Parts: sequence; C-alpha cells; structure tokens
Amino acid sequence: MKDSKRIVVASGNAHKIAEIADILPQFEFISMKDAGFKGEIEENGQSFRENALIKARAVSEALGVVALADDSGLCVDVLGGAPGIYSARFSGGGDAENRARLLQLLDGMDDRRAHFECAVCLYYPDGRTLFGVGATYGAILDEERGGNGFGYDSLFFSDDIKKSFGEATEEEKNTVSHRFRALMDLRSKL
Ligand code: IMP
Repeated sequence: MKDSKRIVVASGNAHKIAEIADILPQFEFISMKDAGFKGEIEENGQSFRENALIKARAVSEALGVVALADDSGLCVDVLGGAPGIYSARFSGGGDAENRARLLQLLDGMDDRRAHFECAVCLYYPDGRTLFGVGATYGAILDEERGGNGFGYDSLFFSDDIKKSFGEATEEEKNTVSHRFRALMDLRSKL
C-alpha cells in the first residue's frame, strides 16, 4: 500500500485517470467515487483555475485526502474566448449540439483561431495547493473531421499535429493536449 502517495481524482472519467497516472507514475490514483465521495460539486468559478480548485477542495475536505481536479474547455478568439468555462453547457444539449452551435456562430468567419485550456489543482488536507496550466493551439474547421475523441475534438485542427483531434489517435493527442501540458506543468512543481 502506498497510502501517503495516494491521490483521489475529482472525476469519474477512467480515461482521464489513466492519462494522469501515466504522467505522474509515482502516485496511485483512485476516482472520487471509489474513494467514497458522494457529494455534489457546484462548479461556479469564473475561471478554469477556480473551478479546478473548487472541485479538488470539495473532495479533499470531504474525505481528508490529497485530491486532484482538472477543468478545461475551448476558447475561440473571435468569440472573445467563449465557450471557455461554459464549454460543456454551450448549447444546453450534448457534445453534438455544442459543435453545431459553434459551427453556426463561426459561419462565414475567416478568423477561426482557438485553443483548448486546462488547469489542474492538487489540494492537500492542510489547505496547501499546487496548480498546473496548459494550452494547445489550433483552428476551428468548417466541418467535422474524424470520429475519435469527444467534445469539440472533430472540429479542432491542431497546429502541433496538423490534423484534427478527431483524426488523431489517443497517443497523438495526449502528447500535445492542454491536459497533458497542465499535468506536466504541475509535475515540474512537485
Ligand atoms: P472538462 O472540464 O474536462 O470536463 O471539459 C469541459 C468541456 O470542455 C467538455 O465537455 C468539452 O466540451 C470541452 N473539452 C475539454 N477538453 C476537451 C478536449 O480535449 N477535446 C474536446 N473537447 C474538450
């Protein structure tokens, strides 16, 4: 047992947890559900960083453990950074409706620059915090390309890998993603 090295992730997403464990192999990660967290967390922060802090603090305080949370979203330049922290609830529907709304808003626009942003927060039971931030840059396509990933992936053409995240394998995306970069930033501070 490596209890002192155990971190509870404020997420139920198994993919996210596996990605985190790959980048920080010195720790053991478990989901908040497996750790016994039963509460609801209201993400009412005004930034990715604040939302990550709210989630990590809620889990840490409820269970008395070290907790890690992330918050991320898509920021489109010509939309003044929207949908940003509202990425998941942009249209009031699901991922497909969010993508449709984005395409509609950018219809006929030449400037399609965008980036994904991510903040991660590690919260200790004594109230200490460590943050990591990361971004990945690209442009919003005119139509969807590729069926991999989730969210806005099929509309996001990555500057780094010169294809959409929807066309990228998980490995390709994970080496340039905003989440990867935020976790690497956090790792450099540990
Ligand atoms: P979360 O904070 O990681 O749950 O992400 C919030 C929302 O941002 C998601 O529901 C997606 O709409 C969007 N998003 C965040 N990261 C990505 C990504 O890597 N690809 C596509 N969409 C993303």
